Amino acid sequence: MVNLILFGPPGSGKGTQSANIIDKYGLIHLSTGDLLRSEIGNKTPLGMEAQKFMDQGLLVPDEVVIGMISSKLDSNPDARGFIFDGFPRTTAQAEALDKLLALKKTAISVVLSLEVPEEELVKRLLNRGLTSNRSDDANEDVVRARIVEYHNKTAPVADHYAKFGKFKKVKGEGTVEEIFGLLSNELDTLVGQPA
Ligand code: ADP
Repeated sequence: MVNLILFGPPGSGKGTQSANIIDKYGLIHLSTGDLLRSEIGNKTPLGMEAQKFMDQGLLVPDEVVIGMISSKLDSNPDARGFIFDGFPRTTAQAEALDKLLALKKTAISVVLSLEVPEEELVKRLLNRGLTSNRSDDANEDVVRARIVEYHNKTAPVADHYAKFGKFKKVKGEGTVEEIFGLLSNELDTLVGQPA
Protein backbone atom coordinates (compact mmCIF):
# COMPACT_ATOMS: atom_id res chain seq x y z
CA MET A 1 0.00 0.00 0.00
CA VAL A 2 0.99 3.59 -0.53
CA ASN A 3 -0.20 6.00 2.14
CA LEU A 4 0.39 9.66 1.56
CA ILE A 5 -0.14 12.61 3.87
CA LEU A 6 -0.70 15.86 2.04
CA PHE A 7 0.45 18.40 4.60
CA GLY A 8 0.37 22.18 4.86
CA PRO A 9 -1.48 25.11 6.40
CA PRO A 10 -5.12 26.01 5.67
CA GLY A 11 -5.33 27.35 2.12
CA SER A 12 -2.14 25.66 0.92
CA GLY A 13 -4.02 23.72 -1.78
CA LYS A 14 -4.35 20.28 -0.20
CA GLY A 15 -7.93 19.73 -1.36
CA THR A 16 -7.24 20.88 -4.93
CA GLN A 17 -4.13 18.75 -5.29
CA SER A 18 -5.76 15.72 -3.62
CA ALA A 19 -8.33 15.64 -6.40
CA ASN A 20 -5.51 15.49 -8.99
CA ILE A 21 -3.62 12.81 -7.08
CA ILE A 22 -6.67 10.56 -6.68
CA ASP A 23 -7.33 10.75 -10.43
CA LYS A 24 -3.77 9.86 -11.35
CA TYR A 25 -2.81 7.30 -8.72
CA GLY A 26 -6.10 5.71 -7.65
CA LEU A 27 -5.73 6.35 -3.94
CA ILE A 28 -8.68 6.81 -1.59
CA HIS A 29 -9.13 10.36 -0.35
CA LEU A 30 -9.68 10.86 3.38
CA SER A 31 -10.26 14.53 4.22
CA THR A 32 -11.26 15.13 7.83
CA GLY A 33 -12.54 18.60 6.85
CA ASP A 34 -14.88 17.08 4.24
CA LEU A 35 -15.96 14.30 6.62
CA LEU A 36 -16.73 16.84 9.36
CA ARG A 37 -18.66 19.10 6.97
CA SER A 38 -20.71 16.11 5.86
CA GLU A 39 -21.52 15.28 9.52
CA ILE A 40 -22.58 18.92 9.99
CA GLY A 41 -24.71 18.79 6.83
CA ASN A 42 -26.46 15.68 8.16
CA LYS A 43 -26.91 17.34 11.57
CA THR A 44 -25.45 14.36 13.41
CA PRO A 45 -24.45 14.71 17.09
CA LEU A 46 -20.78 14.46 16.02
CA GLY A 47 -21.34 17.25 13.48
CA MET A 48 -23.08 19.51 15.99
CA GLU A 49 -20.20 19.06 18.44
CA ALA A 50 -17.53 19.65 15.78
CA GLN A 51 -19.20 22.78 14.47
CA LYS A 52 -18.68 24.63 17.76
CA PHE A 53 -14.92 24.31 17.28
CA MET A 54 -14.82 24.86 13.52
CA ASP A 55 -16.81 28.11 13.74
CA GLN A 56 -14.09 29.54 15.96
CA GLY A 57 -11.23 28.32 13.79
CA LEU A 58 -10.21 25.80 16.46
CA LEU A 59 -9.27 22.17 15.94
CA VAL A 60 -11.92 19.57 16.70
CA PRO A 61 -10.91 17.26 19.60
CA ASP A 62 -8.50 14.48 18.65
CA GLU A 63 -10.74 11.56 19.67
CA VAL A 64 -13.50 12.75 17.32
CA VAL A 65 -11.33 12.87 14.19
CA ILE A 66 -9.33 9.76 15.08
CA GLY A 67 -12.59 7.79 15.43
CA MET A 68 -13.78 9.03 12.03
CA ILE A 69 -10.52 8.05 10.31
CA SER A 70 -10.45 4.65 12.00
CA SER A 71 -13.90 3.76 10.69
CA LYS A 72 -13.03 4.97 7.17
CA LEU A 73 -9.89 2.79 7.12
CA ASP A 74 -11.99 -0.19 8.18
CA SER A 75 -14.62 0.45 5.54
CA ASN A 76 -12.02 0.38 2.71
CA PRO A 77 -10.20 -2.95 3.26
CA ASP A 78 -9.19 -3.37 -0.40
CA ALA A 79 -7.73 0.10 -0.93
CA ARG A 80 -4.53 0.46 -2.92
CA GLY A 81 -3.60 3.22 -0.52
CA PHE A 82 -4.88 6.39 1.08
CA ILE A 83 -4.27 10.08 0.77
CA PHE A 84 -4.78 11.86 4.08
CA ASP A 85 -5.77 15.51 3.66
CA GLY A 86 -6.08 17.72 6.75
CA PHE A 87 -5.13 14.80 9.00
CA PRO A 88 -3.12 14.29 11.16
CA ARG A 89 -3.26 17.82 12.56
CA THR A 90 -1.72 17.14 15.98
CA THR A 91 1.11 14.92 17.18
CA ALA A 92 -1.47 12.79 19.06
CA GLN A 93 -3.36 12.27 15.78
CA ALA A 94 -0.11 11.30 14.03
CA GLU A 95 0.70 8.73 16.71
CA ALA A 96 -2.84 7.31 16.53
CA LEU A 97 -2.66 7.10 12.72
CA ASP A 98 0.69 5.29 12.86
CA LYS A 99 -0.88 2.72 15.21
CA LEU A 100 -3.99 2.25 13.07
CA LEU A 101 -1.84 1.66 9.98
CA ALA A 102 0.48 -0.70 11.86
CA LEU A 103 -2.56 -2.82 12.76
CA LYS A 104 -3.16 -3.10 9.02
CA LYS A 105 0.50 -4.03 8.47
CA THR A 106 1.18 -0.82 6.60
CA ALA A 107 2.58 2.67 7.31
CA ILE A 108 2.83 6.22 6.01
CA SER A 109 4.99 6.20 2.88
CA VAL A 110 5.66 9.93 2.64
CA VAL A 111 4.46 13.33 3.87
CA LEU A 112 4.42 15.99 1.15
CA SER A 113 4.20 19.50 2.58
CA LEU A 114 2.86 22.36 0.45
CA GLU A 115 4.87 25.49 1.30
CA VAL A 116 2.99 28.79 0.92
CA PRO A 117 3.71 32.17 2.59
CA GLU A 118 1.22 33.31 5.22
CA GLU A 119 -0.18 36.42 3.49
CA GLU A 120 -0.86 34.36 0.37
CA LEU A 121 -2.81 31.88 2.55
CA VAL A 122 -5.03 34.58 4.04
CA LYS A 123 -5.68 36.00 0.57
CA ARG A 124 -6.61 32.59 -0.86
CA LEU A 125 -8.90 31.69 2.05
CA LEU A 126 -10.79 35.00 2.06
CA ASN A 127 -11.12 34.71 -1.70
CA ARG A 128 -12.53 31.17 -1.37
CA GLY A 129 -14.91 32.54 1.29
CA LEU A 130 -16.50 34.79 -1.34
CA THR A 131 -17.73 31.85 -3.42
CA SER A 132 -17.82 28.75 -1.18
CA ASN A 133 -20.39 28.08 1.52
CA ARG A 134 -17.65 27.82 4.12
CA SER A 135 -18.33 30.32 6.89
CA ASP A 136 -14.85 29.63 8.32
CA ASP A 137 -13.36 31.19 5.17
CA ALA A 138 -15.54 34.30 5.18
CA ASN A 139 -14.25 35.89 8.39
CA GLU A 140 -10.66 37.13 8.66
CA ASP A 141 -10.49 36.55 12.44
CA VAL A 142 -11.47 32.89 11.97
CA VAL A 143 -8.97 32.49 9.11
CA ARG A 144 -6.17 33.91 11.27
CA ALA A 145 -7.20 31.72 14.23
CA ARG A 146 -6.87 28.64 11.99
CA ILE A 147 -3.37 29.68 10.99
CA VAL A 148 -2.44 30.18 14.68
CA GLU A 149 -3.78 26.67 15.45
CA TYR A 150 -1.68 25.37 12.57
CA HIS A 151 1.52 26.90 13.95
CA ASN A 152 0.85 25.80 17.54
CA LYS A 153 -0.54 22.31 17.05
CA THR A 154 -0.05 21.11 13.48
CA ALA A 155 3.46 22.28 12.57
CA PRO A 156 4.98 19.80 15.13
CA VAL A 157 3.54 16.93 13.05
CA ALA A 158 6.27 17.76 10.51
CA ASP A 159 8.97 16.90 13.06
CA HIS A 160 7.22 13.65 13.93
CA TYR A 161 7.60 12.40 10.33
CA ALA A 162 10.94 14.11 9.69
CA LYS A 163 12.38 11.91 12.46
CA PHE A 164 11.57 8.90 10.26
CA GLY A 165 12.93 10.59 7.11
CA LYS A 166 9.45 10.76 5.58
CA PHE A 167 8.92 14.53 5.33
CA LYS A 168 9.36 16.42 2.04
CA LYS A 169 8.67 20.06 1.23
CA VAL A 170 7.11 21.03 -2.10
CA LYS A 171 6.69 24.59 -3.39
CA GLY A 172 2.98 25.41 -3.12
CA GLU A 173 3.00 28.59 -5.21
CA GLY A 174 2.50 28.69 -8.97
CA THR A 175 -0.26 27.28 -11.14
CA VAL A 176 -2.24 24.21 -10.03
CA GLU A 177 -0.57 22.28 -12.89
CA GLU A 178 2.95 23.34 -11.91
CA ILE A 179 2.42 22.29 -8.31
CA PHE A 180 0.86 19.00 -9.38
CA GLY A 181 3.95 18.42 -11.54
CA LEU A 182 6.19 18.81 -8.48
CA LEU A 183 4.01 16.44 -6.43
CA SER A 184 3.96 13.92 -9.29
CA ASN A 185 7.77 13.94 -9.42
CA GLU A 186 7.77 12.74 -5.82
CA LEU A 187 4.95 10.25 -6.28
CA ASP A 188 5.75 8.60 -9.62
CA THR A 189 8.54 6.44 -8.29
CA LEU A 190 6.78 5.76 -5.02
CA VAL A 191 3.31 4.89 -6.26
CA GLY A 192 3.77 3.92 -9.89
CA GLN A 193 0.87 4.15 -12.30
CA PRO A 194 -2.49 2.66 -11.30
CA ALA A 195 -3.15 -0.95 -12.33
P1 ADP B 1 -8.50 24.04 5.90
O1 ADP B 1 -7.31 23.15 5.69
O2 ADP B 1 -8.73 24.98 4.78
O3 ADP B 1 -8.52 24.71 7.25
P2 ADP B 1 -10.24 21.76 6.40
O4 ADP B 1 -11.44 21.49 5.58
O5 ADP B 1 -9.13 20.77 6.36
O6 ADP B 1 -9.79 23.17 5.88
O7 ADP B 1 -10.65 21.95 7.94
C1 ADP B 1 -11.67 22.84 8.36
C2 ADP B 1 -11.82 22.79 9.88
O8 ADP B 1 -12.19 21.46 10.29
C3 ADP B 1 -10.56 23.08 10.69
O9 ADP B 1 -10.37 24.45 10.90
C4 ADP B 1 -10.84 22.31 11.98
O10 ADP B 1 -11.71 23.03 12.83
C5 ADP B 1 -11.59 21.08 11.51
N1 ADP B 1 -10.66 19.94 11.26
C6 ADP B 1 -10.40 19.37 10.05
N2 ADP B 1 -9.53 18.36 10.19
C7 ADP B 1 -9.22 18.28 11.50
C8 ADP B 1 -8.36 17.45 12.29
N3 ADP B 1 -7.63 16.47 11.71
N4 ADP B 1 -8.29 17.66 13.62
C9 ADP B 1 -9.01 18.62 14.21
N5 ADP B 1 -9.84 19.45 13.54
C10 ADP B 1 -9.95 19.29 12.21
